[in-house]
Amino acid sequence: MQFYSTNNKDLRVDFKESVIRSLPADNGLYMPESITPLPDSFWENWRDMSLTELGFHVAKQILGDSIPADKLREIVNESINFDAPVVTIAPHTHVLELFHGPTLAFKDFGARFMARVMSYLTEGDDNLLTVLVATSGDTGGAVASAFHNIEGTRVIILYPKGGVSELQEKQLTTLGGNITALEVDGSFDDCQAMVKANFLDRELMEKHNLTSANSINIARLIPQAFYFFNAARQLEEGKEPVFVIPSGNFGNLTAGLLAQSLGLPIRHWIAATNINDTIPRYLADGNYEPLPSTPTISNAMDVGAPSNFARMKDLFGDNWEAMRENISGLAFDDDETREAIRRVKEQTGYTVDPHGAVGILAAEIWHQASPDDETIILETAHPSKFLPTMEEELGKGSIEIPERLACLAKLPKVAHQISNDPKEIKQFL
Ligand SMILES: *Cc1c(COP(=O)(O)O)cnc(C)c1O
Repeated sequence: MQFYSTNNKDLRVDFKESVIRSLPADNGLYMPESITPLPDSFWENWRDMSLTELGFHVAKQILGDSIPADKLREIVNESINFDAPVVTIAPHTHVLELFHGPTLAFKDFGARFMARVMSYLTEGDDNLLTVLVATSGDTGGAVASAFHNIEGTRVIILYPKGGVSELQEKQLTTLGGNITALEVDGSFDDCQAMVKANFLDRELMEKHNLTSANSINIARLIPQAFYFFNAARQLEEGKEPVFVIPSGNFGNLTAGLLAQSLGLPIRHWIAATNINDTIPRYLADGNYEPLPSTPTISNAMDVGAPSNFARMKDLFGDNWEAMRENISGLAFDDDETREAIRRVKEQTGYTVDPHGAVGILAAEIWHQASPDDETIILETAHPSKFLPTMEEELGKGSIEIPERLACLAKLPKVAHQISNDPKEIKQFL
């Protein structure tokens, strides 16, 4: 399978180049050159397949022969070694829990698959593959955990001093081995600028075999298509789900659109955002006007210029009407989100995190007009990752912290202190 740039369909590269380079030189995003629906033989028994079995068929259909079937099966099985259950919280209302991976957010799906794919693609290369990544929260933890002990790779993570929560910091700084954490005396924007400066140095990049684990990498998107199949198969036969996606950079929604292109029957998509509502505004009036992001309590969705918009446009042939026929956009502020966290707990007993709560609000609005539709809301992270907000709404001690997060508190932090000068990274390469 070849991949083209959304800015130039004639610019084609193979899978290895698209993954290791991450971004085309023309600043577009890579897309598979064709997406063919899964064959009849797949649809005969897809409802009986496990998450990983579905994942294998989906990845194979997208990647063709880019990875041999046996190897691909192994990569899928090792990456997705945790469940993604669907929980029914009210009539016709279901939550798809994507936080059962090692770092308690859906980013484990993408990061774990990408780590193994990168390791496979660079097997036999002379140089170690060095992943350089800046983080403000969930991404760094997922990437560190995913690449830990993966042969032929090492990770250098930059994070802003005092800019991540205590447990998030521990997720970055306690693994050791092939994971190095750099605590930068600066902001997240400084960290990103430092990474970028090093990527622009072509010589350095090639000498050290540098790559990025940025969320726009196509290898992070593919495994996110798996769970849409696994959730949809659990509905009564003949029922087509309305998927509600709490969105920031719109990777999840784009992965869902890939699943739909592979033939998965979907009734409708709802893009749910906080007040960073660039896409809901675009869907309303056809004008794409990105804005600087505003901080909210659903901070993983504080994105003003969603990076996957280029892929969404590409999938709809840049046709706004077609996109809004398939996707509705709804935005909610923090007060509404806080109220939803309390109300869902009261009415259903279910604890939903601030991102999932934005999704629940959108599902409620959909049900007002279509009460019998089956909505499936993506719960993108475990509530314990947002402890202060959750305890403000539900009370101290109301949130159980899973052992794999709680145990980090006792481990010693190991991080190198550096200034915000991009040159400082070189000594760690
Ligand atoms: C990254 C993230 C999101 C946003 O997902 P996108 O694919 O970028 O739209 C939502 N919720 C949580 C908890 C996240 O970590």
